[in-house]
Amino acid sequence: MAKKSTVKSNWPKYLLQWGVLALLVFFLSGLASLIFTKMAAPDPEKYCPFGGLEAFGTYLANNSLPCSMTSMQIVMGIVLAAVVVLLGKLFCGYLCPVGTVEDLLKKLRQAVGFKAFNINSNSVLDKALRIIKYILLFVAFYMTMTASELFCKNFDPYYATATGFKGEITLWMSIVTVAIVLILGLFVDRFWCKYICPLGAVSNSLKFWVWLVVLVALWWVLGLLGIHIAWIWLLGAMCLVGYLLEILCGKPKTQLIGVVIDNNKCTGACRLCQKNCPYNIDVPTFEGKVNSVDCTLCGECVASCPVKALSIGVKPGVESKCSKFTKLLPATLTVVSVIIAFLLGGKFEVPTIDENWGIEPGMKLETLKVEGLKSVKCFSSSKAFKAKMEKVPGVHGVKTFVGSHTVVVTYDANATDAEKIEAQMFVPSKFRVNSLEPNAYDSLKCVTIRTEKMFDKLDLNYLGMQMRLTEKKIFGLESMYDCPLIVKVYMAPDEELNEAWFKNIVEKKTLEMPVHGGGVKMIDLGFKFIRMEKGCSFVSTQDYLRMMFDSFAAEYRKNVDADAPQWWYEIVDHNYEKPIVRRGMPFLSNHLSSHDGVLGTYLTLNEDLEPCIRIRYTAPMTDDELFRLMTMPKWTIKYSDDDIREVDAKMSFETPGHSILVN
Ligand code: SF4
Ligand code: SF4
Repeated sequence: MAKKSTVKSNWPKYLLQWGVLALLVFFLSGLASLIFTKMAAPDPEKYCPFGGLEAFGTYLANNSLPCSMTSMQIVMGIVLAAVVVLLGKLFCGYLCPVGTVEDLLKKLRQAVGFKAFNINSNSVLDKALRIIKYILLFVAFYMTMTASELFCKNFDPYYATATGFKGEITLWMSIVTVAIVLILGLFVDRFWCKYICPLGAVSNSLKFWVWLVVLVALWWVLGLLGIHIAWIWLLGAMCLVGYLLEILCGKPKTQLIGVVIDNNKCTGACRLCQKNCPYNIDVPTFEGKVNSVDCTLCGECVASCPVKALSIGVKPGVESKCSKFTKLLPATLTVVSVIIAFLLGGKFEVPTIDENWGIEPGMKLETLKVEGLKSVKCFSSSKAFKAKMEKVPGVHGVKTFVGSHTVVVTYDANATDAEKIEAQMFVPSKFRVNSLEPNAYDSLKCVTIRTEKMFDKLDLNYLGMQMRLTEKKIFGLESMYDCPLIVKVYMAPDEELNEAWFKNIVEKKTLEMPVHGGGVKMIDLGFKFIRMEKGCSFVSTQDYLRMMFDSFAAEYRKNVDADAPQWWYEIVDHNYEKPIVRRGMPFLSNHLSSHDGVLGTYLTLNEDLEPCIRIRYTAPMTDDELFRLMTMPKWTIKYSDDDIREVDAKMSFETPGHSILVN
């Protein structure tokens, strides 16, 4: 019998699948930012349920969240799990973009008449291949829970494609998985989903959730009895049991709804249901209910059955009385579950880290909450913040919420107070608003303003960018801690800016930051202007330029002849003002320091106020040898006595410098 198209009769599935795919292409390809020019850059992992489940597992095991995961992804993951337990793999059938691509590839194959190479579901090969996704599931969870970095990003074909292969991926893994999706998916129905996808493994094991609950309960009871088994064994056991149930049983029994088959109507002759099924499930072989572990309730079989032997329903063996309504049920429940996840995900926030130390009886514990710390944005930056707070006397705990860039610090009020902690949190900084030619002015005017809610080191940059957009003759900002905060504004001597102007600029609610390639990124701000100090001061342009320059200096203790001549090897380049050069200096210093005769490495302004890199050296080092070392494609970096590595050079030098006698 000829195959008929199911697009019209199964439109809810196509609407959701193609709608999600179209939205992802629209937002992630940059098309959306051409239309909504003030839109923030989209985050491809913002609603990832698998990332959410990994984050949830990490939270249970370590009381912390990996990467920049927030409660939104966790809720997405938990809702997905609940939906699988109660209803089925609706995410796989209706939302997952990888699944949609696999379904489109099947349609393409059928349209061009390629032969399918589906693997018999009872074959040894099918059963052997199904273990791959459980191994990947175990590895992804284990790596994420131990390293607090989302491991699945290394190989996720969706993430690699969504980031244009530029995200936190491992290139070869991503190329392999994208090739699996596109090439194997063209010939084998849902190859990726059946055999490789770790979220497919989670979903399939959750269809046998009773056994997983038994395992967790057993582990918990053993713990109560004093037999503590590491979580990694529980994780391994869950993966193994999930795999065994999938290949040995394969027919979960606890789902509330499913595809119901009237075996009196179906003769099993046409097999249109199987041909249209994305998983090539042999539908007519089931009795009453099509409870295959692979089934996603996509409804393709129902839509393609010419004798209406199939329907979506609750009770096996009974034809649904309202099949027109029930066929909409899976798509409707998919939409409802996504809405619930959205609403719940925005309602609360799980801390990325929640750590306490040194708390003793008798302490008067209080908390200080600081919002808007934009540099606290992931697990690593949370840990860095905690490391900083650990050194502050009287502080005994830190919680971070990366979604809202908020920190809560627990301290002993007998030992310190909120103001002292705020002072320790604050990072004084400088920001160059506009470039300044050394001979443009003899001196610059310095006006002091007082602000609040600018604790993060990025905040001064944002205020500076805001000022840059006004095209006033403002050259630099400098912040220092006080209450309220001190911000010094350096400007041309003839620039006249009053208090109202500063208040307006400081209290702007958003920054429209221009981004590379056109467009703007919207950044929410919440600074408060307090006052402008009376009067102003003047600083020489030379002093200002030296003060603003982010210099670097490293000197090496070496036994050298004090009377031997020493030299500066100097390379001048105006690009040396850029932060990327400053970040490369510790590597250059490390690379050169082990060579005889090299005494120091510097990034500074020379006597003509030009940015330059200087190497101080003496014999036996020579300027030619220094240039050769600096231009090597690999630098030798000594991390410790036992850890010396060859790394790619962090800077490139095209023109040799010149030597100047020091003594
Ligand atoms: S098994 Fe994986 S790739 Fe396939 S539809 Fe489900 S989540 Fe998507
Ligand atoms: S059996 Fe039917 S509902 Fe289940 S996956 Fe196949 S086509 Fe979709």
